[in-house]
Amino acid sequence: MQLLDGAVVRDEIFKRLRPRISKLKRPPGLAVVLVGHNPASEIYVRGKIKACGELGIYSEKITPPETVTTEELLAIIGDLDRRPEIDGILVQMPLPRQVDSRRVLEAVAPDKDSDGFHPMNVGHLVAGRPAPRACTPAGVMEMLKYYHIPLDGRRAVIIGRSDIVGKPMALMLLHENATVTICHSHTSNLAEECRRADILIAAIGKAGLVTSEFIAPGAVVIDVGQNRVTDRAEAEILGRSEEFARKGSVLVGDVNPMDVQHAAAAYTPVPGGVGPLTIGMLMSNTVELAERHVAFSESCSA
Ligand code: NAP
Repeated sequence: MQLLDGAVVRDEIFKRLRPRISKLKRPPGLAVVLVGHNPASEIYVRGKIKACGELGIYSEKITPPETVTTEELLAIIGDLDRRPEIDGILVQMPLPRQVDSRRVLEAVAPDKDSDGFHPMNVGHLVAGRPAPRACTPAGVMEMLKYYHIPLDGRRAVIIGRSDIVGKPMALMLLHENATVTICHSHTSNLAEECRRADILIAAIGKAGLVTSEFIAPGAVVIDVGQNRVTDRAEAEILGRSEEFARKGSVLVGDVNPMDVQHAAAAYTPVPGGVGPLTIGMLMSNTVELAERHVAFSESCSA
């Protein structure tokens, strides 16, 4: 079985971005809004800001307190929308309960939507037009392309229908002429549906739910899931007891890593598979937005 290495693909994405960044008249700018002190969000944001530093992208972290209101966040986003040196705005999810997340995400100008979540950009994706695309599924597409995994006419099954992974993933695969099935928590005979897949994509958020009975021999299995397991017995079932003993918890995907080895032709491990690509595509969206902004301001001054 071939392991699909996300870090290698991310490095390739970075390599392609560097000359585009140095061609720009000014560095691309990304603003990250991180509310409160969610430890997982803090780790994700650190990774994103580090990637900006590696590539020469200007980054700015705005850290409103946990008690922030929707109106206060809307004012922050409004300011960022108006600043010409900021090309992309990322609001780290989840937001505290008192905040209307939808209103906040929709306040990000569509041409600064480096996460590709704005309904206008989702509409562009549906219509197959260029626009910033949701980073995780766009990263999966880069992975499939990098490893020359054929999609045209192949059967792809996605488990999960979230707005940020499952649904955009389905559209991206459809645009590459795959025959796409979306499964979710109401799907009957889930394992049977999945066994039909040439390409199986798990974006569920349930540690090790996908077992050997879900996987057709020779399938390509993409594991988007990122689940923190704190139970020793569960870690043992997933073959991670040694790491658990050292760390007290383990990060696992939605696919049982023991089972997948025997059935799949190729697989994205967790960690190290899809994870690095999300940041890769965030950087790619930000550079693309900066190119558009710089070209627009040049055309205005010409
Ligand atoms: P989400 O919004 O919670 O969506 C989960 C989806 O899985 C839902 O559509 C749900 O169905 C479906 N589901 C849940 N239990 C199921 C079951 N037993 N059988 C079949 N379907 C089931 O999650 P998400 O934001 O898409 O994220 C999914 C996973 O990907 C999480 O582990 C998350 O941490 C990870 N993730 C990773 C990255 C990365 O960078 N690697 C980025 C984003 C997300 P219903 O719609 O019917 O409820």
